[in-house]
Amino acid sequence: MALWPLATCNMKLQDFPKITGALPLSEKMPVWFVGHGSPMNALEDNPFTRSLREMGETMQNRQKPAAILVVSAHWLTRGSFVNVIPKPETIHDFGGFPQALFDAQYPAPGAPEIAKETAKLSALIHEADDWGIDHGAWTILMHLFPKADIPVFQLSIDYYQPMSYHLNLAKEIRALRERGVLVIGSGNIVHNLRMSMSKLQNQDTSPFDWAVEFDNWVHEKIKNRDFQSLTDYEKAGTAGKLSVPTVDHYVPLLYTLGLADEKEDIRQTYEEVTFGGISMRTFQVG
Ligand code: ZN
Repeated sequence: MALWPLATCNMKLQDFPKITGALPLSEKMPVWFVGHGSPMNALEDNPFTRSLREMGETMQNRQKPAAILVVSAHWLTRGSFVNVIPKPETIHDFGGFPQALFDAQYPAPGAPEIAKETAKLSALIHEADDWGIDHGAWTILMHLFPKADIPVFQLSIDYYQPMSYHLNLAKEIRALRERGVLVIGSGNIVHNLRMSMSKLQNQDTSPFDWAVEFDNWVHEKIKNRDFQSLTDYEKAGTAGKLSVPTVDHYVPLLYTLGLADEKEDIRQTYEEVTFGGISMRTFQVG
């Protein structure tokens, strides 16, 4: 009878590793959320970028990742995609910055094999060959892993899905953590560029009250492990609406939290509200 080997086996079907072949088992990797903020951070030496350098060095001393998967606020698609190209280009997806920022390169190799294995983990993830490394990824990777010697690939954000979709999709790719893949959600918990710019024009960089309120609201939910409430940020009232005028920078947070196991330690590594309405909150799971 075809079913007997499973019936007599102690393992359940869902326990069998979904990823095989190219990816050996590893120590369980942490997951990061990084508030990336201004692209100029790529070139700056400030308390935030120094905290990234420390995170990267600590990680390398613990275990060098086999690959890095970034869920960036700046790759928005219809459907979910992983980029499978071997040599991703550094994408300068912004305007109005100094030439030095356009000249910056992050020449890390891609991770086509691991990206293809990632696509096999969920029927919702498809392969794409038309994306490189966008500034949500490279502006922070330049500090986290300045040698650019670890393969990098990205997972896009399906902009047409509800918030719960992202939290659930992250759960489907948890196996990556045991295959040497460091996953980084890169966005900003509070990201209201328009109001930040208007404040900046008045030479004022003090945080808006609503920005601090929402940043703290999210922090509390993370501390209480109430990730589900974070899919309904409008519960935070006006502060939520002003902090998340569009969801692009908020969604990467849901991937980081969806990859966390129950009771796993979550450590804040950086907190600051810059330019009035951009939260740089950064933390590590595991
Ligand atoms: Zn951004």
